[in-house]
Amino acid sequence: MIKTRIPPQNPQANLREYYKTYRTFAWSDFEMELTRSDSGKVNIVNDAVDRWAAHPEKQKQPALVFERGGKVRTFTYLDLKEQSCRWANLLVEKGFETGDRLFIFLSPCPEIYLSMLACARLGVIFSVIFPTQGFDELEWMLSNAEPRGVLTDPDLVERLSQDAMKGVDHIFLTGDVITGQFAQEIPLAGVIERMPTGFTNRAFPGETPLFLLYTSGSTGPPKGVVHAHGDMLGYVMTARYVLDLNSDSVLWTDGDPAWVTGTVYGAFAPWLIGATSVVQGAPFSASTWYRTLERHQVSVWYTTPATLRRLMEAGDDLPRRYDFSRLRHVATVGDTLIPDLFFWAREHFPRAPHDTWWMTETGMICIANFPSEPIKPGSMGKPVPGIEAAVVDRDGNSLPILTLGELALKTGWPSMLRGIWRDEERYADYFLDGWFLTGDMVIKDEDGYYYHQGRNDDLIKIEQKFLGPYEIEQVIRLHPSVTEAAVIGKGASKGKPTVKAFVKVNPGFVPSARLSHEIRAFVKANLHTDIPLTEIEFIEELPKTRSGKMLRRVLRARELGLPTGDPSKLRE
Ligand code: ATP
Ligand code: MG
Repeated sequence: MIKTRIPPQNPQANLREYYKTYRTFAWSDFEMELTRSDSGKVNIVNDAVDRWAAHPEKQKQPALVFERGGKVRTFTYLDLKEQSCRWANLLVEKGFETGDRLFIFLSPCPEIYLSMLACARLGVIFSVIFPTQGFDELEWMLSNAEPRGVLTDPDLVERLSQDAMKGVDHIFLTGDVITGQFAQEIPLAGVIERMPTGFTNRAFPGETPLFLLYTSGSTGPPKGVVHAHGDMLGYVMTARYVLDLNSDSVLWTDGDPAWVTGTVYGAFAPWLIGATSVVQGAPFSASTWYRTLERHQVSVWYTTPATLRRLMEAGDDLPRRYDFSRLRHVATVGDTLIPDLFFWAREHFPRAPHDTWWMTETGMICIANFPSEPIKPGSMGKPVPGIEAAVVDRDGNSLPILTLGELALKTGWPSMLRGIWRDEERYADYFLDGWFLTGDMVIKDEDGYYYHQGRNDDLIKIEQKFLGPYEIEQVIRLHPSVTEAAVIGKGASKGKPTVKAFVKVNPGFVPSARLSHEIRAFVKANLHTDIPLTEIEFIEELPKTRSGKMLRRVLRARELGLPTGDPSKLRE
């Protein structure tokens, strides 16, 4: 662990006194920010959009700024309200009812957001699907969720399987052509515009499902994580305290809306605060990313370590050509923000990046670095107010500090998953004696900072002791030739378990047997435990998910000759 402490980046942030707030925190304090009917019923759209649209000044503020190919489409809060009401009226006209599902299967476009809001207005459960989703998994998702409708475009239609679409009543196609592949196709050009711009939102108990998100590892079937309207309390709190949003903030969350980060912090969370959300729909390029920050005067940027890495690899010259002076907060999620990325980003942007941790199932950021607290590079920070965290062993017993164990969260925070769609057993597996088990391995230090060490299935067993891969990878990365590394345990060879490292070298270094030997000697000299690192494979790209997460599971499967799962889940 790195002992350096980076001073707080913004002592004047919304959350000023972490420890005091944490001790005295009550969720009810944040209820005040939200509206409820007398009967206690809610609809997230009332709070996220309609109350701002009814306000003479706020209604003119941009809520969604969507850019693609250099073209910008701006939606004020009033636009967002009126247009999503049109979509809601279309759904009603087509017979959708509360509890029905709509799949949103589109390449990045504002219609994703408008239809999400439309669904929420009447309680239709939406599920945003990656436009690159593979055929087999998509078929599985369709048969699992049985949506009443699919919103897509003519280019993506051919990915829908005839069998799985049998029970689907409507296939809405953006644009004015139909492909003729399915009898249920409805072209939307001219249709939405004719719909009325008013709609009376339905009101629900907080636990009413809002969206269904399929998350999936590299093996095994995907799982549909269910989230509800009442999650918004968690969105508001973390938007204020972690992302430090205010109503004049311009937030850019660069995650796809088919990833939970894009749905929660690219849409609902900033809107609940009355802020502006920027969406860049173009595929990644370093210059597009820098230009987006500058052009839209982004004040808060929520990104990923994978994106920072790609920016870093594009060179140090580029960022110097842009003006980031409006940027006052940077946060990341998805994977460990390793110290070299941290320091690189700190040098090239006005503020150091703040790592945050959460998962689809938690619905909101749960562990974070806060702008008013010191940062320890390599640490994902401390529990957010309202979250009680612990490090536990396999039986759920709490472990002392500086011990490797599984991260567990006390159940009961407002945005915790409400279920796994049609899989109660899998849902029940998350819980043990009032705790939610995350499957992530961590170490907590004496100041309460958490350090991610990999997932529980990534653990490496050496002489009755478990080691997280992160610890070994961190040492390998310190070798000057190495840019990225991933390690896996290989089980027994001549009776003893061994460790294999996959290494991507820095430009200018040539993989060789000699370099492999050198790296192994380096690890031996610098790691406190004796690790049987017997093998190094040089690799051009490490396998990662679309959201940029390292897939050690794929390396393990490949190595051990197991199925590697659906490759469409990997980044192109
Ligand atoms: P599946 O559960 O199907 O395997 P997934 O876990 O990759 O999919 P997500 O819910 O998007 O899908 O990812 C959550 C996971 O991402 C966490 O459990 C954790 O392993 C990882 N993660 C998130 N934030 C961080 C972080 N700051 N540091 C390290 N890992 C992180
Ligand atoms: Mg997961």
